[in-house]
Amino acid sequence: MSLNIENIRKDFPILNRQVNGKPLVYFDNAATSQTPQQVIDCIVDYYSGYNANIHRGVHTLSQEATDKYEEARLKIQAHFNAKKTHEIIFTSGTTHGINLIANGFSSLLKKDDEIIVSALEHHSNIVPWQMLCERTGATLKVIPMNQDGELVMSEFDKLLSQNTKLVFVNHISNALGTINPIEAIIEKAHQFDAAVLVDGAQACPHIKPDVQALDVDFYVASAHKMCGPTGVGILYGKEKWLNLLPPYQGGGEMIAEVTFERTTYADLPHKFEAGTPNICGGIAFGAAIDYMNAIGFDAIANYEHELLEYATEKLLAIDGLKIYGTSKHKTSVVSFNLEGIHPYDVGTILDKLGIAVRTGHHCAQPIMDFFKIPGTVRASFAFYNTKEEIDALVAGVKKAQMMLS
Ligand code: PLP
Repeated sequence: MSLNIENIRKDFPILNRQVNGKPLVYFDNAATSQTPQQVIDCIVDYYSGYNANIHRGVHTLSQEATDKYEEARLKIQAHFNAKKTHEIIFTSGTTHGINLIANGFSSLLKKDDEIIVSALEHHSNIVPWQMLCERTGATLKVIPMNQDGELVMSEFDKLLSQNTKLVFVNHISNALGTINPIEAIIEKAHQFDAAVLVDGAQACPHIKPDVQALDVDFYVASAHKMCGPTGVGILYGKEKWLNLLPPYQGGGEMIAEVTFERTTYADLPHKFEAGTPNICGGIAFGAAIDYMNAIGFDAIANYEHELLEYATEKLLAIDGLKIYGTSKHKTSVVSFNLEGIHPYDVGTILDKLGIAVRTGHHCAQPIMDFFKIPGTVRASFAFYNTKEEIDALVAGVKKAQMMLS
């Protein structure tokens, strides 16, 4: 089914604004997506109708807020096809989810154990594992990438061994858009009894992951990349792992009983949800998932692929423009540079034209080092973008090239 983009765009009030006297063209979706009115309304409803702390109040507002928050958890469970509701832990985002697991494995790893990450990772999927290695004496190994920005799977095979305890890989690279072969990675890692964490921050805006079909051990995501608010996300974990791992933070909500001598922890999911959570954020995350599902992930993926092909063709027609990340398996991200021109300068001129792109290393410095570049200009498309907006980008890039060469 094709999307009615004109109608969809009406859901996003921000798309009506001007930037520097020009209509906003928002191509920084891989950093943060925009928010539809349905989600904004949900946030307003919460604060104007039933704002209260959850789980421990007998009063009506607290019960209403608790019900809505737990309803959101159920929606998220259904969306990711988790077997059990308590396998969904609310977090503040992908980074929080990764750190929660990295912290938990501190007590399970020992010297000589090995952790494998991929060369395509965001810093949030590198640094916590380096810190974990420092704490435990375990070693970090890296699956290399090729010139197309794809993981070299034959090298992954060589890295796997009986010492491999954990494998961490993003589902889709934020810097290049490559869709990683996570099914094969999970299957191979499991042959060595290694646990696999998939960082779904960039995948969830485009596809609907089925954690049971993937048989993944942990999957993390952020609401703000999928039409939800910032500061909220989820960690999916298989029940057996979540029961095994110690809590990440201590505090209210995560306890069963506290005395000065001894504390017992609450059952899942509360064991990992210390303190007052982002209640409104969690509820609005549920609304964002409803919104995206109503549009339909197949239709979203098809349309975004059209945008990707259109942009790739038009941009490659510009002399001296190079695209990084040329895998056939990629999502709607175009990372590029103009020969001899710094990406920051291109981004600044595009901003003057009302076009929002990201410039720099995209929190993925090892990828930039691989290509021996300081960074790229990254245009990332969402289902509310149009080919006309891509035409504006192409015209802007040509203008920047003219002004800066
Ligand atoms: N992982 C990937 C692949 C990302 O693209 C991002 C954000 O850009 C993150 C992790 C971190 O997400 P957050 O800042 O929402 O925790």
